[in-house]
Amino acid sequence: MEKRPFTELGLSPEILKAVEKMGFEEASPIQTAVIPVALTGRDVVGMSSTGSGKTAAFAIPAIERVDGHKKAVQVLILCPTRELAVQVSEESAKLAFFKRGVREVPIYGGQSYERQYRALAAGAQIVIGTPGRVMDMMERGALKLQSLAVVVLDEADRMLDMGFRDDIEKILSSVPETRQLLFFSATMPRAIQDLIGRYSKDPAWVKIESVAQNAPQVEQVWFEVDRRSKLEALTRLIDVNDFRYGIIFCSTKIMVDDLDEALHARGYQTDRLHGDLSQAQRDRVMDKFRRRAFEFLVATDVAARGLDVDDLEVVFNFDLPNDAEDYTHRIGRTGRAGRKGRAFTFVSGQELYKLQSMVRWARLDVRRGSIPSLDEVDEARTNVFFERIRATLDAKQFKPHDRMIDRLLDDGYASTDICSALIHLLQGGTSGASEKAPAPESKAKPAPAWAEKKAARPTASPEAPGETEAEREREDDDGHPAAPSRKTKYERPARTGREAGKATIFINVGRKQLITPGDIVGKIAGVTRLPATAVGAIDIHQRHTLADVAEDQVDLIIKKLTGIKMKGIPLAPMRATEAGPQNDNE
Ligand code: ADP
Ligand code: MG
Repeated sequence: MEKRPFTELGLSPEILKAVEKMGFEEASPIQTAVIPVALTGRDVVGMSSTGSGKTAAFAIPAIERVDGHKKAVQVLILCPTRELAVQVSEESAKLAFFKRGVREVPIYGGQSYERQYRALAAGAQIVIGTPGRVMDMMERGALKLQSLAVVVLDEADRMLDMGFRDDIEKILSSVPETRQLLFFSATMPRAIQDLIGRYSKDPAWVKIESVAQNAPQVEQVWFEVDRRSKLEALTRLIDVNDFRYGIIFCSTKIMVDDLDEALHARGYQTDRLHGDLSQAQRDRVMDKFRRRAFEFLVATDVAARGLDVDDLEVVFNFDLPNDAEDYTHRIGRTGRAGRKGRAFTFVSGQELYKLQSMVRWARLDVRRGSIPSLDEVDEARTNVFFERIRATLDAKQFKPHDRMIDRLLDDGYASTDICSALIHLLQGGTSGASEKAPAPESKAKPAPAWAEKKAARPTASPEAPGETEAEREREDDDGHPAAPSRKTKYERPARTGREAGKATIFINVGRKQLITPGDIVGKIAGVTRLPATAVGAIDIHQRHTLADVAEDQVDLIIKKLTGIKMKGIPLAPMRATEAGPQNDNE
């Protein structure tokens, strides 16, 4: 994938001035490879992707061969469509700008013959046209090709697809034997190889594979994020974009574990994949992920290598990958099958330089983005909610509640007020802005990511009114949001004695269903919108789980959990007594 300055390609001062004026800094790989060979007069077959600069690759050497004093057609460029003919004509005009006496004319169907006759009569040396109209003009005697030195077939495969084969063959067989043939095609089907074999002499084959081509469908964005604000940034991006299926890459196993737990606690459905898991465990996780049994897979590079999922909505680089190759691997899992994918990369501190060098080396097309503000998150949340209401209405997926509604209407409430009140209740009531976590981009006193309680997702725990006294105290202590010890947060202690203010509930899923404490906390937080701190110690047994929850929220939690499925099992939670799971009467 070599690129060179135009000055090293053996070009005339006029062309060098032109490319400079056009703002081209250096020749693209296909230009670097094609131009010097084509200047020697040899036939060339060039293959490269769209946007790689093929026009200049053939137009520059073609223009160099034109004698400006000679008023006869010397270059013929065949294109599949009129739009392309016009485009190539415009680019040729720019490239030939400083070449005295050199003129070009596009020739295509639908345009008056008059103008084209005149341009040809005036002595244009470069003709750019569609095969049909070119044939037509040849047959009318308006286009004379006896001085032709170069023939270019641009997008040859497309021209054959459009049925121009006969015209092309007629044109090629009626031009001088001595002409040079420059042949460009994105693909090389049999018919194209035939044409090349019959009409070109010992062509040089130039094929350029482009790296950028690996991810043409992926929108790549990077964000500068303070390390401790990454979790917050991640959840905001997920919420604003309403992502439901993706992979989040971390650099270490510990990071994977931590992030998986933290997302779980915020109500996201996640699972993890890293090298410490047995093969059987990995297979199970992958199987679930493919079935979309959860939303986000948190993984290390090694674990995710050779992982056969595609059609992901998004790939997050929670940590920057080691090199451009890993980066390309990671993001290649999204944007497949013609669908647009996204790749979001977090960069903190010194990593910026690493990203820059990766971008330069692999010519990544990645732009800078900014983390959504809380207002944007709120707005996105509202939109999602709006769409859900609409979908529910459209699908008529609801039971009528006419009696209740009639009663409210009878009491004199307006229907808009009733709906607004319901939405307020459904959204759990939003709290004032002052309670919200600091924006991740703010450098002042950033809270440890995992100590932040804000969760923006509708199903996650919001800045809850039920925040416990202990939680608040920790934050007020010395002005710093202190970290709850990991033990209390992630590895909840076995239930030896119940904490004050907590009651125990019995839940009918357990180890058999591969339930983890994170599952329980996530589920409770998700359905009740209570903070994760409303849940205390969790004890997972073979077929059931005992969880300590805030005493004053027991009824709410039981009510909300009832009937909700966990690992496919409808939950039937109840109050547990010390003696065991029994239905304490209410
Ligand atoms: P292709 O025919 O391979 O699809 P084009 O020749 O149409 O690609 O070029 C794509 C775009 O890149 C055009 O806008 C062109 O002006 C621009 N371009 C071509 N060569 C260079 C270069 N060396 N440097 C910068 N831009 C270039
Ligand atoms: Mg082109």
